[in-house]
Amino acid sequence: MSTDRTDCLFCRIVAGDVPATVVATTDRAVAFRDIDPRAPLHVLVVPREHHPDVVALAAADPALLADVVALGRQVAEAEAGGQFRLVFNTGPEAGQSVEHVHGHVLGGTRLGWSPG
Ligand code: 5GP
Ligand code: ZN
Repeated sequence: MSTDRTDCLFCRIVAGDVPATVVATTDRAVAFRDIDPRAPLHVLVVPREHHPDVVALAAADPALLADVVALGRQVAEAEAGGQFRLVFNTGPEAGQSVEHVHGHVLGGTRLGWSPG
């Protein structure tokens, strides 16, 4: 997959062309705060490389998916005692609005369960 897609919001955030509050990085992944947080901790973890969703990423580069998960755990350990929910909305019916794979790292409170 190519990187730095100018038509992709999260590629533009990774490139620094769109501002975001970055909380942690690795050489292959970036964590930044969601602009519309749904929990005290709500950070998005994304690979620097463009992949459309978590299924495509898992197929193309499982080690990179593992890096993204590890970065989510690192942020949750730093900010929420290490307990967190990691959500990858996949497809518009499931709520995916940005077609660059991103995990929602949610925590910092007792989370309920209400899909939909
Ligand atoms: P999705 O709905 O695709 O699972 O998640 C996309 C997330 O990206 C949403 O939670 C939304 O609030 C967040 N988001 C959309 N635009 C921006 C932005 O420009 N900056 C940041 N930091 N988050 C964004
Ligand atoms: Zn992208």
